[in-house]
Amino acid sequence: MAANLLDLDLEGLTAFCDSLGEKRFRATQLLRWIHQKGAHDFAQMSDLAKSFRDKLAQVATITPLPVVTEHASADGTVKWLFDVGAGNAVETVFIPEDDRGTLCISSQAGCAVGCRFCSTGHQGFSRNLTTGEIVAQLWHAEHALRGRLNLKAGERAVTNVVMMGMGEPLQNYAALVPALRLMLDDHAYGLSRRRVTVSTSGIVPMIDRLRDDCPVALAVSLHAPDDALRDSLVPINRKYPIDELLGACRRYLDAAPRDFITFEYCMLDGVNDAAGQADALVRLVRSARVPCKFNLIPFNPFPESGLRRSPRERIVAFAQRLQDAAIVTTIRKTRGDDIDAACGQLAGEVRDRTRVHERLRRIPVVGERASSAA
Ligand code: SAH
Ligand code: SF4
Repeated sequence: MAANLLDLDLEGLTAFCDSLGEKRFRATQLLRWIHQKGAHDFAQMSDLAKSFRDKLAQVATITPLPVVTEHASADGTVKWLFDVGAGNAVETVFIPEDDRGTLCISSQAGCAVGCRFCSTGHQGFSRNLTTGEIVAQLWHAEHALRGRLNLKAGERAVTNVVMMGMGEPLQNYAALVPALRLMLDDHAYGLSRRRVTVSTSGIVPMIDRLRDDCPVALAVSLHAPDDALRDSLVPINRKYPIDELLGACRRYLDAAPRDFITFEYCMLDGVNDAAGQADALVRLVRSARVPCKFNLIPFNPFPESGLRRSPRERIVAFAQRLQDAAIVTTIRKTRGDDIDAACGQLAGEVRDRTRVHERLRRIPVVGERASSAA
């Protein structure tokens, strides 16, 4: 079967060129054609010998993902639904701001972690995406947007990537790392490692591996100051409890001492938004000695969750308490909610193979005043 070159980072492409008896520097030429120029046809690659182009056309393809739908929000946010076959589809969101363009990429069709407040989690899990399917989201967005945004020569549409779409990226590690390497590679997307963020629910051993293999910016979805509550919101906590997670966060920063961890915290009415819980978070990160920022995400509701968004004043008060303890805290702006593109609203199409609803029913929520929120 022909190799899809979107699956290969520099190392993979070099080995591929080697296997065709071609010089290794051909790999960087190919990367530039594919990722910088958006080529998907070998005939376009004018500085490659015709014989090499003909050979490539026989053994390789550059196969993007078919777009099922594209929606543009009034605020400039764009959401694509991509077909990944067998009834599955994943979502990708572009969020333009004054000084940057952030692309939120999916790593799996569904997610097996099953967080109570996440609509992807409620859909269950079908399969991991391949490297090529992860990269194809960036490839498509960058080249589709370039034409539309009236960019100057050399300017990029996507300046930042966050692995915050559907899926738990650290449960798809083998495909994730080459995709990250392509994002960082100067011959491909050339993003600095601080502009590429992996967001995780806390897969501890994989946080350690990422530190060694490809230390990009790390966001950790914390959502609760204690294990009892976190167990009920983020089920993976029962395997990797908070103290182990914070230990992995500290080790991650040992490899990158000028960095910090971003803790994401989804604000759920009456569940995790009390003043005492903010104070408990302060104690927690101080005693674990993890340099961090907090990003509070107003919960984006969906019918099956049975949860509500914290009122604005409570979110602001919660942020203030963290800030008073000298922790930099931001409240995430909700973008693209008119097209269901906000955090946790990405649902795509998932052929669940994990009976997620049975699992969710078995775990009660045990937060502050949880009975009123259930
Ligand atoms: N699986 C990874 C990355 C994808 S989720 C993770 O959990 O970190 C990206 C972020 O969106 C996470 O912080 C997640 O907690 C948050 N999120 C999920 N559902 C949400 C919802 N309904 N409202 C607001 N944020 C949500
Ligand atoms: Fe998976 Fe992240 Fe959603 Fe949890 S919040 S179910 S880990 S995608």
